[in-house]
Amino acid sequence: MNVMLLGAPGAGKGTQAARIVEEFGLVHLSTGDILRKAVADGTPLGIEAKRHMDEGGLVPDDVVIGLVRERIMQPDAAERGVLFDGFPRTIPQAEALDEALSASGLALDAVVSVEVDPEAIVARITSRRQCRACGKIFNVISDGDLAACTECGGEVYQRDDDTEAVVRKRLDAYEAQTSKLVPYYAAQGTLRAVDGNRTPDEVYESVREALAEVG
Ligand code: AMP
Repeated sequence: MNVMLLGAPGAGKGTQAARIVEEFGLVHLSTGDILRKAVADGTPLGIEAKRHMDEGGLVPDDVVIGLVRERIMQPDAAERGVLFDGFPRTIPQAEALDEALSASGLALDAVVSVEVDPEAIVARITSRRQCRACGKIFNVISDGDLAACTECGGEVYQRDDDTEAVVRKRLDAYEAQTSKLVPYYAAQGTLRAVDGNRTPDEVYESVREALAEVG
């Protein structure tokens, strides 16, 4: 099963992704995580990506498509299936993904669209924190202002692009580009909408129901 999680920044994709990969054993392909690692490692790709990420814009399609192609060509992707998290974000990325999957005889089985009220997003993102070591996501309001990760003890930090000014630009990028994927996947018949304005447990229950229909 190959699944894509679609939703605005702050919709809760990362939290849902962690649960999906744990239950269904899928390879978690988060382009945001791959890019943040490249930035932390200071690779040429990371240096190029950081410019766009710090401004709340998208990293160029060819760069991200290359990263994804490389990952899905590894044998475990076909064996276990993939959860695409934060990719595709543009129509050219979606078309490239369709082509890359069909070249391997694969397809996207479900696109789970996590829908949240835009007014809630800025508050959600600016209170988000993440473990630098294992990537676990926390929220200051529900988890308190943690210094260390409850899973691995790693440093809990606020992402550079989770400030209000950058969040607003990321929302603009979502509106201008990524929201176009909703009709794209609706036309393919793979879109499953889930109400993200609920607790993570409730949202996950709906995600599971959506995946049960295809899995
Ligand atoms: P995320 O962790 O998915 O919110 O991604 C963080 C940032 O990484 C985004 O704001 C973009 O700058 C960049 N990024 C992640 N995935 C993509 C993608 N598929 N296409 C372009 N840029 C991306």
